[in-house]
Amino acid sequence: MGPAEYSTRGTVAVITLNNPPVNGLGHALRRGIVDGLDRAAADPGVKAVVLAGAGKSFSAGADIREFGTPQMTADPSLHAVIQAVEASPKPVVAAIHGVAMGGGLELALACHYRVAASNAQVALPEVKLGLLPGAGGTQRLPRAVGLETALNMIVSGTTVSAAQLEGTRLFDAVGEGDVVERAAALAETVADRRPLPLLRDLAIAHPSAEGFLAFARGAVGTVSRGYPAPRRCVDALAAAASQPFEEGLRVERDLFLSLLGTTESRALRHAFFAERAAAKIADVPEDTEVRPIRSAAVIGAGTMGGGIAMNFANAGIPVTVLEAERARLDQGIATIRKSYEGSARKGKLTSAQAEERMGLIRPTLSYTDVASADIVVEAVFEDMAVKQAVFKTLDETMRAGAILASNTSTLDLDALARSTRRPADVIGTHFFSPAHVMKLLEVVRGAATGKDVLATVMGLARTIKKTAVVSGVCDGFIGNRMLEPYLRQSLLLLEEGALPAQVDRALESFGMAMGPFRMNDLAGNDIGWSIRKRRYREHPETGRSLIADRLCEQGRFGQKTGAGWYRYEAGRRDALPDPAVDEMIVTDSRERGVARRRIAEDEIVDRCVLALVNEGAKILEEGIAQRASDVDLVYLAGYGFPPFRGGPMFYADTVGLTTVVRRMKGFGWTPAPRLARLAGEGQTFNRS
Ligand code: NAD
Repeated sequence: MGPAEYSTRGTVAVITLNNPPVNGLGHALRRGIVDGLDRAAADPGVKAVVLAGAGKSFSAGADIREFGTPQMTADPSLHAVIQAVEASPKPVVAAIHGVAMGGGLELALACHYRVAASNAQVALPEVKLGLLPGAGGTQRLPRAVGLETALNMIVSGTTVSAAQLEGTRLFDAVGEGDVVERAAALAETVADRRPLPLLRDLAIAHPSAEGFLAFARGAVGTVSRGYPAPRRCVDALAAAASQPFEEGLRVERDLFLSLLGTTESRALRHAFFAERAAAKIADVPEDTEVRPIRSAAVIGAGTMGGGIAMNFANAGIPVTVLEAERARLDQGIATIRKSYEGSARKGKLTSAQAEERMGLIRPTLSYTDVASADIVVEAVFEDMAVKQAVFKTLDETMRAGAILASNTSTLDLDALARSTRRPADVIGTHFFSPAHVMKLLEVVRGAATGKDVLATVMGLARTIKKTAVVSGVCDGFIGNRMLEPYLRQSLLLLEEGALPAQVDRALESFGMAMGPFRMNDLAGNDIGWSIRKRRYREHPETGRSLIADRLCEQGRFGQKTGAGWYRYEAGRRDALPDPAVDEMIVTDSRERGVARRRIAEDEIVDRCVLALVNEGAKILEEGIAQRASDVDLVYLAGYGFPPFRGGPMFYADTVGLTTVVRRMKGFGWTPAPRLARLAGEGQTFNRS
């Protein structure tokens, strides 16, 4: 079967889009649709045409495999296909099931009639890639569903079910049963009706379009800081409401092209592809046989263990949770229950779902109860001796073929693997806190980790809906290793003249979800303190952070103690600048004889963000990360790096690596060899 199959049912021709997995509108399919329309037009036995999708969906839009290739815009373009549909002398009925998104929905909007399955999903999600629908979507959708609904859909990119839009001009019929059959029946009924109805011919009726658009502009402006696309979407809809159709199409086209070249859109598209690239591992073929994961176990029911167990339960995988002591076990399980009950109260889960998930979690104090699990994730104290003892026991008790994973953040995974007789089965799964919420999962590949084990855990990550990135073994893996120099710069800035709120403000205006000091107060300053103390012991030659240590000596661990870099009022999370901390910082400078200086926002951003870039370059050089986009993904999914900047390495590319190197030298730093080399060759980290 070709990409567009042509068949007839009596007097109705059916053109079936068939480009698995989602009928992306690739070049061959576009060609096939136009050919099918021509064939139907020429056949005197055909009175009407149905456009339907094979498999699970009508069409999810552009074929992402063609992005950046000449096929993307090769003739016939989507515009040409849409023109061919509108120009068809015989009525064209879209039969929509599954999803009709982006270009797929735009194609359907050009048809004369549309029939949908009630559970079909429609969306114009281009805004999520920093774009707007560029094939008439902004002009036809408001004519079909009204200005307000269209604006909401286009500005947010959200998916709406056909049932929700029943009764609008978008659908001539919404219902159950075979959608192609129903579309063919409608096609027969309307075969002789003329003129052929087109959405472009409808007027947009709104009692006060101008007032509504002005309101929408204001609302969108405030929530879309850093993102031009949502505002351009409003502009396109304003054109739809105020201009003739063809003029509106021209405005849409111009706006689309102006967005295509923006850094924000390039960054969002980079992130989209980074996510897909991260699943690929150079030396692990995609058809590597994986081990089935039907049951899991977690060792340690603390902060992380509880969250990790919830991930399994949420995916329907039964999980046994083992603790060393009864009291901690009870407490850990109670915390999980509280979390599920909270979700049920907020309406995110039904009580039945919450109970079902609790029912999948089985507490135990005995290793015999975990022995048969397909994977076990260790999340006990961050202490090599404790972890090695746990791995030794796991080695003795777990069934052959079970995967032994560790959630360690800083310890040497290879050393853990060596404490077992099955290092190939050992892997790191570095979850982020709170583990049932945060998207990122660093999958740590040890020197001996089996390829099938790696492939299995990457597949499991998909099952539990995590964004997985493979990391080699090093202190801190990708994310925390880069965070170290970033935080070091933030502390140095305090010593030189800045205050915590100023540093946070600068990085938050850059777009970081949270500045470093607010972030530390949330995570707990004691965590960094204990890591620093270990480093002071292991590497006495490295500098100390007296300010950060002093803060911890005063018990200011952050939100949990009501005071950290900021102060917190009881029951509130707002970070309030604290004169006592500012005083401590200024006193520290005085005692060390440092003349404090005014530090500009740009310097704060450059020093912190470029510290990430330099460490990222070292991580790439050492092969800890497979590709620059993996590093970017870690920061986007796990560290609140602004999506519109595409991640630290992509950001460096947009600044220009020569400029990056020059700025680093200005700070007296040595640019990492890979960075210096790429800059010298006029290259970028990410190939675009
Ligand atoms: P935690 O102190 O909250 O929990 C550890 C739990 O392990 C405790 O309940 C303890 O009773 C239990 N435990 C200790 N020894 C045990 C043993 N021998 N057998 C069974 N249970 C045992 O610690 P956490 O924050 O959940 O951290 C756990 C692991 O996750 C550490 O390796 C940590 O580095 C890592 N991690 C933590 C975070 C974080 O933000 N907290 C993030 C990523 C990774």
